[in-house]
Amino acid sequence: MKQYQKIPRSIQCPVCFASSTQLLWVAKSEQAAQHFVLKEKDPERFLALVSHIEHLWGRNTCEIIQCGNCEFCFSHPYIAGDERFYTLAYERTGYPSWKWEFEMTFNLLIESKIPDCTLLEIGAGNGAFVKKILGVILPKENILCTEYSEYGKKEIEGLGIKCLSVDVRELHNESFQGSFNVVCMFQVLEHLDRLSELFQQLNWLLKNGGSLFIAVPNPIKIEFNELNGALLDMPPNHVGRWNKKCFEEIGKLNGFYIKVHKIENSSFFSMATQFVLYRFYQRSQKKDSLENQIQKIKNRYLLRIMQVFGLVVNFFIAIPALTKINSQMGSSQWVHFIKDETIYKFNH
Ligand SMILES: [Zn+2]
Repeated sequence: MKQYQKIPRSIQCPVCFASSTQLLWVAKSEQAAQHFVLKEKDPERFLALVSHIEHLWGRNTCEIIQCGNCEFCFSHPYIAGDERFYTLAYERTGYPSWKWEFEMTFNLLIESKIPDCTLLEIGAGNGAFVKKILGVILPKENILCTEYSEYGKKEIEGLGIKCLSVDVRELHNESFQGSFNVVCMFQVLEHLDRLSELFQQLNWLLKNGGSLFIAVPNPIKIEFNELNGALLDMPPNHVGRWNKKCFEEIGKLNGFYIKVHKIENSSFFSMATQFVLYRFYQRSQKKDSLENQIQKIKNRYLLRIMQVFGLVVNFFIAIPALTKINSQMGSSQWVHFIKDETIYKFNH
């Protein structure tokens, strides 16, 4: 894809509710499934995934829409992947040990020294973040996590931290109301639908003046990848592409203001390496491409050797795109929201 279609549409934005939107591109169910599982490599799982994606969408295409007001990009239908989708789409993947957004949040919590601080991490992975803050910032009794994966949940419970395998929107127990000083949601929001319900719930969980930390992918990087032959931001895995303006809008409607918004500043080397890798993966989705042939190789050693060869080829082809990479294209963006009851009262 060299450019977005930018055809005017009238679909309500799930963040700011404006209806003046435009179509960026259309994903077909087979194309979406091929993004996660190569048909040529695992035809059965591919077909099961196509059928499940069509079940989620209720049809065989999904549009990627951008709001004319807040510039939020969202899949239409705006439906998140469910447990079956993730089981089919991904074999178990590893969790990163430490991330930029963890560092940003950790430093801020150390500085702010909140007395008897309570913290909730939503979608806590294998607990890499809470492991670091444990004992340093707050005791385990003051931490609660939610996590769906059995493996992640076990790791977190191994630290002595309570972990619930639930959707945060279902945490209705009255004892949770206004009970947290800090709520963290790292690389989770881009996977979620039902945003009003979600932000109302985050408001309900936090104490007044409490902090909500959110990290999501950087939209500048996503657009660069999509328009330069690297991976597409494919639904129903990622269903929302966020930016500072949409955070302001959703904050206003749900009783939060932004204290800090930052974009990760990655090194050129790491951005270039990831771009070449994403270009290789994108090309491998095309039947009979060199990259597709490579990914079909069954012998593990030959596969590794040929993947390195494929990446070198992609590096040379990607040189013109690599020259356009700049410091604004780091992986993540990070927001520090403060819950402010006066904003909520004013807007309702
Ligand atoms: Zn909007």
